[in-house]
Amino acid sequence: MQKPNKHKSVAPIPPPLSKIQKGTPWRRVEKYQFETGIYRPPSEGGSASLLLRFTRNCPWNHCTFCSMYKGEKFQLRSPGELKADMDAMAALARDLRNISMDLGQGGQITRDAAMVLMDKVPELNYHNGFAMFFQWLCAGGKTVFIQDGNSIIMKTKDLMEALTYLRTLFPSIERVTTYARSRTLAQKSLEDLVAIRKSGLDRLHLGLETGDDDLLAKIKKGVTAQGHIDGGKKAMEAGFQVSEYWMPGLGGREMTMDHALNTARVLSAINPDYIRSRPFRAIPGTPMHTWINQGEMHLLSPHEQLQELKEMIMALNVTSRVCFDHAGNNWLNPSGRLLLSHGYEGYKFPDEKETLLQLIDEGLQSDHKPQSLTYL
Ligand code: SF4
Repeated sequence: MQKPNKHKSVAPIPPPLSKIQKGTPWRRVEKYQFETGIYRPPSEGGSASLLLRFTRNCPWNHCTFCSMYKGEKFQLRSPGELKADMDAMAALARDLRNISMDLGQGGQITRDAAMVLMDKVPELNYHNGFAMFFQWLCAGGKTVFIQDGNSIIMKTKDLMEALTYLRTLFPSIERVTTYARSRTLAQKSLEDLVAIRKSGLDRLHLGLETGDDDLLAKIKKGVTAQGHIDGGKKAMEAGFQVSEYWMPGLGGREMTMDHALNTARVLSAINPDYIRSRPFRAIPGTPMHTWINQGEMHLLSPHEQLQELKEMIMALNVTSRVCFDHAGNNWLNPSGRLLLSHGYEGYKFPDEKETLLQLIDEGLQSDHKPQSLTYL
């Protein structure tokens, strides 16, 4: 005979959504099932972007400073899978709106509507994309980030179809962005890039990291300085907003000046819409972390990072917006306050170049150590 269950009131832990079998009590959540990945640029968090996964992981995956997709295999997702994910999102949005109407809330996406739906479908508590999707709807459903590391590598036709479908299902969308590798952009034809742009992809986030060829080889970026220029310029020519990320401190003390000056040279040649600073941080498990521990490379102090930043900015000749978001740009001024704006629109060059250089000089006078890094 079965013993009485003393813990009867404790809800069972459901299986992961990927393991849900037809006919189980979890079946009812299937119509809302979609994938979402982990990584997105900081600015896409601040604008509450929908995180929509068109591919899985990174097709390159060799960079010696990066741990994002290590151990994970790159996978293209089929057009059918992508469509099913977007259909699931549309069903979720529609059901939330219908509940809101029933509640007399006029179809607004509200917490009340979410609570009612979660009461009906408690499995949504374990859905790893529901909270993100709900917040996106609450924020007006305006911006989307296509994951993962280089979805521009998809067949042009498949990417265009998926973008068109997304824009049709969610007409509230104002901006769609994704990560892209310079080399992939250089390899695609200009006609293909223009067609993708016209299908509704607005902005590309490129990991430039550095414009120095020796450092690019050291970090195994798989692209030369000229390749960065070719890819970035082609993306600009195709009509994309281009956002280039570089890493102060990436070359350590050994390469700081070449890193600063060649990065300025390459960025000046591209003249992208945005230049974003993401100071280097050695991540345990990466080759660069090992090199530092073995004394082969020496990290810059916060002051040395600022000095490198100053050299780069002085040599920079662009009309871009130069930005320092919350991902590690935490230098402090002599009063102990944040030195540089974390705003996603940053400093407009050339108008605000002098202002930025003055701020950096202030930071160089400061004895305050930056606070711990945040990467949210
Ligand atoms: S291309 Fe980007 S995601 Fe891929 S390994 Fe390099 S830094 Fe990481």
